[in-house]
Amino acid sequence: RKYRDWETTKMQTTCPYCGSGCQINMIVRNGEIVDAEPANGAANKNMLCVKGRFAAYRFAASKDRLTKPLIKRNGKFEKASWDEALDYVANRFSQLKADYGADSLAGFSCSRSINEDNYALQKMVRVGFGTNNVDNCARVCHAPSVHGLGTTLGSGAMTNTVKDITTDVDVILLIGSNTTEAHPVIGAQIRGAVRNGTKLIVIDPRKIDLTNIATLHLQQKGGTNVALLNGMMNVIINEGLADEKFIAERTEGYEKMKALVADYTPEKVAKICGLEPTEIIKAAEMYARADKAPIVYCLGVTEHSFGTEGVMSISNLALLVGKVGKPGCGINPLRGQNNVQGACDMGCSPFDLPGYQKLNDPKTLPKFEKAWGTKLNPDIGMTSTQVLPAAKTGKIKGLFIFGEDPLVTDPNTSAVREELASLDFLVVHELFMTETAQMADVVLPGLSYLEKEGTFTNTERRVQRVHQVMKPLSGVMDDFKVFCEIAKRMGGKMDFATTSDIMDEIAAVDPAYGGISFDRLKAHPNDGLQWPCTSPTDPGTPILHVDRFTRPGGKAVFMTLPYEAPNELPNDDYPFMLCTGRELYHYNTRAYSERTPGIREKAGKGRDLSYIEINQINAAEMGISDGDKVRVSSRRGTIESYAAVGDVVQPDAAFMTFHFPDGNSNFLTNPATDDIAKCPDYKVCAIKIEPVKA
Ligand code: SF4
Repeated sequence: RKYRDWETTKMQTTCPYCGSGCQINMIVRNGEIVDAEPANGAANKNMLCVKGRFAAYRFAASKDRLTKPLIKRNGKFEKASWDEALDYVANRFSQLKADYGADSLAGFSCSRSINEDNYALQKMVRVGFGTNNVDNCARVCHAPSVHGLGTTLGSGAMTNTVKDITTDVDVILLIGSNTTEAHPVIGAQIRGAVRNGTKLIVIDPRKIDLTNIATLHLQQKGGTNVALLNGMMNVIINEGLADEKFIAERTEGYEKMKALVADYTPEKVAKICGLEPTEIIKAAEMYARADKAPIVYCLGVTEHSFGTEGVMSISNLALLVGKVGKPGCGINPLRGQNNVQGACDMGCSPFDLPGYQKLNDPKTLPKFEKAWGTKLNPDIGMTSTQVLPAAKTGKIKGLFIFGEDPLVTDPNTSAVREELASLDFLVVHELFMTETAQMADVVLPGLSYLEKEGTFTNTERRVQRVHQVMKPLSGVMDDFKVFCEIAKRMGGKMDFATTSDIMDEIAAVDPAYGGISFDRLKAHPNDGLQWPCTSPTDPGTPILHVDRFTRPGGKAVFMTLPYEAPNELPNDDYPFMLCTGRELYHYNTRAYSERTPGIREKAGKGRDLSYIEINQINAAEMGISDGDKVRVSSRRGTIESYAAVGDVVQPDAAFMTFHFPDGNSNFLTNPATDDIAKCPDYKVCAIKIEPVKA
């Protein structure tokens, strides 16, 4: 340690990486953050993973930070004053609006930033731009959860709490979640539960870390979730394990679903999934017979060309055995980014205003027009996955991107580059000169979470405080003020003095946040408040759907969901099935972890390079050894990477991350989306792998 305790003060805040929402104490000496340590938050119980412990603050002091607005002239960025840049941005967007209409503009919000910024951004797009073309990165991760669980239960969020699903439960059914890498502190709590006697069923095409302690690992073929879940339901119904009372009293649509799954016998499903029928029977029985058994899932369910169907299948399974609305049970999507739950709650969606108030509900627009004192566009907007292709066809002309880097994160990188280049006007509001920012006409500098007062909402719907731990970078405006200024300069009515004022407006328009304020959160430094929290005396809601579902009529609905094969399957030219994901030491584009010197060393030699996991049988056939350079191609592009040979993936399968610029898997991935939520399929695409001779 390079400091003495007496020289320092501590300031508690919330981790900026994953949706676990861990509480961190930042150690500050003379205004500079010198260390971080775990605080005793409700979700993290004095634990932090390597990212929270070592990579949550150094990036903010990086010399790479943007400090001045930049306007591109003759292909080169030139520094500008805020006034000049804001006028320029507002004038260019206004001109495009006048020439091509409000729906030629769009805005992407930042699921990494605080709720208050997200609320302000969607308001800028709606009252300034005059369109509902607003979205956030949930579109490329958990939008299927929002749409799927919203349809079946009435609320697209985690039903229970992390503590509840990892304490004294009989069985955890984990599907499509590499929890110890992507949500490490929740992963540690699952490990703790298993140590205390909980049985763990893992459904995953890879041998992830948690399979080592699982009672059952169903290593199914990629893209077969719906078939497998239908097969488990077939077993449960045939063995008389369905909860008939719950089904009769609290659900609708059962008979139709039951008729469909009658066809999904364990034998038939085993063939589709590459499993033994006995594995499916055992998993179904173990889950159905358990008293307390939560389902925990993540992007292995959602990021498919049938992602929403996968989420709704999980809902079917839990409803079938009456395991919703009860302690130690429920349906628990682990939201990816630290505040992706909040960005969705705040209405950064083309379908919903804040609080999931549907644009197509006739009550919604009049309510917001009254609250905001302005006429609003009634037309449902485009998702981010529709906006970019629409730039290429000329339908979208101007785009404002707040804290996102789609050139790195979105599938089919070469196409995304062309789409961004087709825009008439691109503004990027960022901490660093990202790859997307380099393509912008204007780049605006932003503030990090360490320089703001605000809130994040974690995966458990827990609204927690974010505190200003360091002085904002000199000359950089508050992000929410930038949005107010652009909206005002475009003729929109929008003004906020502080983020606390924004939270008060959120509470006024969104009943689920109705009882939440900065003042009230002072009394909840470690546990925040879980929505719905509808009044100042409401303690919040740890478990959803206890007495009734939030759908009209109060009942949940079973969906009838036949299995469909993934959009793209291997063939003779592209014989391997590629799945993509994250790893422990880095996060998404690495904007933060890349600028944290220590984390590279912690990751270990060789782990700072792009790698592709290949099964040892295939590697031997191709003459590839561990660490060898390989060329990887799909129908969309070719990259080079390094082979990680072993048995984590099955034969004829492969796995990559998009963390590494020297071999970003998104040059390969398939932009085909699911029909409902429009989320791309990052989990299944066809590739070929060739050795690169030295
Ligand atoms: Fe941060 Fe997630 Fe790690 Fe917790 S588990 S410290 S929230 S990255």
